[in-house]
Order: sequence, then structure tokens, then C-alpha cells
Amino acid sequence: MTYCGRCKEERMHQVVALHSDGRAERVTCKYCQSTHLYRDPEAKAARARKTNGANAGSRSAEVKTRAVASNRPARAYSPQETYATGDQITHPKFGEGNVVEARAGKIDVRFGRELRTLLHAG
Ligand SMILES: [Zn+2]
Repeated sequence: MTYCGRCKEERMHQVVALHSDGRAERVTCKYCQSTHLYRDPEAKAARARKTNGANAGSRSAEVKTRAVASNRPARAYSPQETYATGDQITHPKFGEGNVVEARAGKIDVRFGRELRTLLHAG
């Protein structure tokens, strides 16, 4: 049974064209005789899962960055840059951090539960 767009109902359909991989491409509704693209519910679900999976990684990282106190985007840590309290940084070794204190030449950065003192140009 496949959903027929014309009948607006689940109807028996006859496959009239196949994809190269053997999946139904076009079907004819046995009730109203209209021919339309076959909407494969499994293929659609698989595609949705795949898309979600691909996006989930980048999106959750983005959300995580944004969710922390500041709205400023995380900057890649470099000792040549100047940082201020509240800045989000990404460190090549420690990952994402939050500047909790900025002093002359040094910043205290919280990486998860660890607090580290890093150099900066400020
Ligand atoms: Zn129909």
C-alpha cells in the first residue's frame, strides 16, 4: 500500500518504472489510475536519519558553543591574541574553554572542570 496523492488515501499501486537500483520509481494507483512518483517511506526515513546524523554533529557543537554564557563565537586560541573575561576559545589540545579571568599577559580558562592559565597578548 502506498499513499496516493490524488485519492488522498493509501491505495494499491502497480509499479510502472524502476530506479536503476531496483526501487520503485513510478507507480500507478489501481483505484484512480493516476501515475505518480513512488514515495518510498523507508528510503525517506533513511535519508532523514542520514541527514540528521550528518547535521547533528556540527549543530550540537554549535549549540554547545552558543549555550555558554557569552554570545560571542569561540575563537581559536593563540598567545598572540587578546582575550577578555567571558570569551569562548577553542584550544588545539584542551578543546573549548571559557575565559574566566583576563590579566596582564595571562588568562585563566576553564576547560570543562579544569582551569588552566594560558598566555595572551593583553
Ligand atoms: Zn489514486
